[in-house]
Amino acid sequence: MDYQQIIERIYEEIKPYEQEGKQADYIPALARVNPDQFGLYLNLLSGESYQLGGYDTRFSIQSISKVFSLAIALSIKGKELWKRIGKEPSGTAFNSLVQLEYEHGIPRNPFINAGAIVLADVLLTELENPEEFFIQFVRALSGNEEIDYSSEVAQSEQSCSYLNASIAYLLKHHHNLNNRVEDVLHFYCMMCSVEMSCKDLAKAFTAFARSSEPFSHGGVELTTSRVKRINAIMQTCGFYDEAGEFSFLVGLPGKSGVGGGIVAIHPAKYSIAVWSPRLNERGNSIMGMKALELFTTMTSESIF
Ligand code: GLU
Repeated sequence: MDYQQIIERIYEEIKPYEQEGKQADYIPALARVNPDQFGLYLNLLSGESYQLGGYDTRFSIQSISKVFSLAIALSIKGKELWKRIGKEPSGTAFNSLVQLEYEHGIPRNPFINAGAIVLADVLLTELENPEEFFIQFVRALSGNEEIDYSSEVAQSEQSCSYLNASIAYLLKHHHNLNNRVEDVLHFYCMMCSVEMSCKDLAKAFTAFARSSEPFSHGGVELTTSRVKRINAIMQTCGFYDEAGEFSFLVGLPGKSGVGGGIVAIHPAKYSIAVWSPRLNERGNSIMGMKALELFTTMTSESIF
């Protein structure tokens, strides 16, 4: 299969959409990003890689960080984790408060903000130096020591994270948050602020595609069983209240972030990351989603 030719054809086909949607602007630092950018990186498990456009440009991974925090928390807590967080799709917006109130402070899944705020709380409790551990884990996963937090983006988000603060206080009210709300929010915003390129993300996610060779770092091991479960949650909950649509159109487990990044995997075949800041109304990158839909259609390599 000529993957390079395929991704170049995809780029031509998605060009008509390049002015659709707009970048996230509820986080001031993200509103300043140039929206007219696109990158793609395909990493085959057999070793070859193919790339396009701004594949090496770093951007704010935002909610994609939730996959990393879930991997660490699940490795440390095992089944215990599911007493504090569910694993069902939410069908509501990623930052919804209503469902959390109805469900007495147990977030539906780890990829909505409430769930990821609980993950941040778990890491704060369990790790000696959570910020250092988290970034070293991400660096080790992607093999790039230069990956880092953006304190500018983290501060920018924290300065106006009223909704996430409300979620955290509601969790606290329901005894599902052990640390101080300010500390949890700070760490949550730091994790979301990590900047990675499509290349970094595709490389990091090979650990979720190639579970036969479990990745391990600092005592966190991505065993076959954990990877199976994380991939299942990516499939059912990885795309906000559009996970069904993504599954329908693309047919791969993956995760998106409001920075415009999407990373997806085909177990035992490849990992692929795309990035373009303009989002649809659900928060997923418009060009990114179109590119992945075309990719699995043209290659016939979705999981279904
Ligand atoms: N830091 C963002 C927030 O909490 C993450 C949102 C996302 O990428 O889904 O709103």
